[in-house]
This record gives sequence, structure tokens and C-alpha cells, in this order.
Amino acid sequence: MSSAPIVIAGAGVAGLITALSLHRHGIPFQVYEQVAQLSEVGACLQLSPNGTRVLIDLGLDDAMRQVVCEAERKEVRHGLSGQTWKLFDLGEDCRMRFAAPYWFIHRGDFQQVLLTALRDRAPHALQVGIGVQSVQDQGDHISVQLSDGRSVHASGLLASDGVRSRLRSAMVPNDPVQFTGLMAWRGVVPMARLPAHLRVTAEHALGTNWVGPGGHVITYPLRRAQLMNVVGILERDDWHHESWNQTGSHEELLADFAIWHDDVRELMRSIEQPYKWALLGRAPLSAYAQGRLCLMGDAAHPTLPFWAQGANMAIEDGAIMARCLANAPVPLALLAFERLRLQRTTQIVQRSLDNASRFHNPVLADASQAQAYISAEWQADKVRTRYDWLFEYDPLAVELTLPQA
Ligand SMILES: Cc1cc2nc3c(=O)[nH]c(=O)nc-3n(C[C@H](O)[C@H](O)[C@H](O)COP(=O)(O)OP(=O)(O)OC[C@H]3O[C@@H](n4cnc5c(N)ncnc54)[C@H](O)[C@@H]3O)c2cc1C
Repeated sequence: MSSAPIVIAGAGVAGLITALSLHRHGIPFQVYEQVAQLSEVGACLQLSPNGTRVLIDLGLDDAMRQVVCEAERKEVRHGLSGQTWKLFDLGEDCRMRFAAPYWFIHRGDFQQVLLTALRDRAPHALQVGIGVQSVQDQGDHISVQLSDGRSVHASGLLASDGVRSRLRSAMVPNDPVQFTGLMAWRGVVPMARLPAHLRVTAEHALGTNWVGPGGHVITYPLRRAQLMNVVGILERDDWHHESWNQTGSHEELLADFAIWHDDVRELMRSIEQPYKWALLGRAPLSAYAQGRLCLMGDAAHPTLPFWAQGANMAIEDGAIMARCLANAPVPLALLAFERLRLQRTTQIVQRSLDNASRFHNPVLADASQAQAYISAEWQADKVRTRYDWLFEYDPLAVELTLPQA
């Protein structure tokens, strides 16, 4: 049974990066994705050096360059007064310090790059429209029941089936998906529609974090700066519907940001179609592996998007999982993965939560207090302490400690 392939449940970021990484190591695998048509849904992503170095190592540099904007810098702006502070330089500075770029990308474009690479390199490895329904660990293999009625044997099952993971629910009792009390508005704006002072070019790609009382807004360019991504996050406990594609009206969106700076409101007015959804989470786990089953990505460690690390963690997971499986047989490899990933991912999830109070601090309601607060919180040395350990992490080089059989 040990020659059975690894089965991956879910073709999101975690599943596809794991698949490409396993392929690179020559490890047999099969991916099942429950959705028949993987379409261009959802948000946009900031990919930091801890993630992009894996993508480059997987040979995806050229394909990514066709669709990303490489970030030149990021700034922080006060949501009410519009005053601006530097967050950090990226571009050359990022490449020199971390030996990898920082990219802005549309989520649909990213998934397309990963899918194309997988279909080119392993044409029969992905089956769509087939969900993993349940699993039974049989000791020397794991049997995987699929939604088309088949049961397949695997040497291990990697559950990369997202925050609503049914495999996690089967592994961990009493672990509901919870509404975090935060909702997000999102939308894209054709860059040409914006007034000149809000436009950004691909050559000087700027990302902005607007911070304000009880909410924040993130903007950055996409698709070679043809589009501007706009995401507004609010503390709101009256809205629980989770969907990538729940539409909202401009009136409702502008009412939610009624007291915000004109530039924010202009960006929101210019969104083609505003979408909204509730941000969901699950309690942190103390284990990701159980026998031949292991959770990865959002299934293992869903996070608030306040540090832009959910997809980056999923990329790290994929690279490290493949290295573990290349160096140890299945149950031990999954344990090695868990040992390497638990502490870092738990820390990132916790620190993302801390960013909620930093970004949404009540003092931001008052312009003079806000100025002192932002100047202190976003001092260059504090920013370095906050971000450097994240960006320096190299999933391709981090030392593996393999448990003994
Ligand atoms: C507003 C917002 C902004 C964000 N911004 C950033 C950012 O800037 N940077 C960043 O790094 N992260 C960001 N994230 C987080 C990031 O999007 C997620 O962490 C990441 O996409 C998780 O990837 P995943 O593969 O674990 O899960 P998913 O992308 O959810 O993929 C799971 C896949 O599994 C499939 N599936 C589900 N159940 C089954 C089953 N039983 N069998 C087979 N298939 C199944 C699903 O159809 C889906 O395709 C953001 C999130 C939000 C909400």
C-alpha cells in the first residue's frame, strides 16, 4: 500500500502549491477539487517574499510576471484626515533584503497560473467536480471516499479544503466555523476611471493601508495596473453571510464609510460592483496531523487578512509538506510538517488578530491623537520588527527535524 499516491483535497492555493511541489520531488499524487469550474472569484492577494521565493523556485516567475504588479512601496494613511506615512519600501529594497519580490495579484490570475503549470506538468493529476467526502485511516493506507461514489487508496490525505474544511470537522469535534465580527467590502476599479492623484502605475506600484476607527481599507494595483483593488474591512456584528459573491450597493458601502476621507469615498464610488462577505475563523489547533491525514492552508490555520499572510502561509505549507514527504514515510512526514508549522502559523494568526486593534484603534477617531498614534506605531524600527521575521522565512531551506520511526 505504501506505493499509493498522496491525495490532496482542494485545489486552492495550498492544494495547488503542494501538488506542484510534490511533482518537483517526483512524489505521486492526485488532486480532487469539488468545484467543477474553477472560476475567477474572490479577493486579490499580496504575496510577500516568504511566498514568492517558493513560486520562483517552482519555475513560475515568467508566468507570474505576466499578471502581477511588483510592489514598489506601501504607505499608511489616516482614514479620516488622509495624512500619509511610509510603511516600507519594497521593489529593489525588498529584493536586496529578502532576495525575493513582493507582488500584488488578482486571486483568479494566481489560480490560473498554478492550474496551467499543474496541467502542463502533470496533465492527469487534477480531477475537478469531485469532492472528498470522508476518509478512513486503515493503518498501512488511508481510504478516501469521493463524491462520485468511488473509494481510492492513498498513502496520505492532505486536507487543503479551506476554512469550511469538512475533513477538519471530521478530525476535530466541536470546532465550528465562527463569524469573527468583521465584514469585508471588496471591488475593483478600472484605473483609468480614477482621478489622476489616485492612479498608480505598474512601474511605481503603490499599496496603501488606510486605518481608521473600527475599520481599515486596503488598496493596491492589479493586472499591470489596469485595475485598482479596494477592500474595506469593518467591525460589524449584524452581517453573517459568507460568500465571495454577495453583491452590495454603493449606497450601503458609502454609508459604511460616511466619515472617511474623500479619497477613500472616491475609490469606493468608482468600484464597478461592490461585493461583501463576512470574515470567518476557527479556534487555533494544537495539532494538524492525525495518522495519515493532515490539515493545510486555511483548513489548518485560517487567519484574519490583516497581515496578508493566509495565502503566503498556504504556499509555505505546500513547499514544506513536499520536503517532509521527500524525506520521510507518510505518518512521520506529516508529524514533521506539524512540528515545523504549528508555532509559526499560530503566531501569524495571533499577530494578525493584534493588527485589528492596531488598524482600528478608537484613537483614530481624533485627528490630533491619530497623528501621534500612527507616527509611534508605524516607526521604521517597529515596522521592521513586525515584518522582517515574516519575510525572511525560507520554506525551501528551513531545517527539517524528522521524528524517529
Ligand atoms: C479579504 C481577504 C483578503 C486576503 N488577502 C490576502 C493577502 O493579501 N495575502 C494572503 O496571503 N492571503 C490573503 N487572504 C487569505 C487567502 O485568500 C487564504 O488564506 C488562502 O486563499 C487559503 O488557501 P487554501 O488553499 O487553504 O483555501 P481555499 O483557497 O479556500 O481553497 C480550498 C479549495 O478546496 C475546495 N474544497 C472544499 N472542500 C472540498 C472537498 N471536500 N473536496 C475537494 N475540494 C474541496 C474548494 O472548492 C477550494 O477550491 C485574504 C483573505 C481575505 C478574506
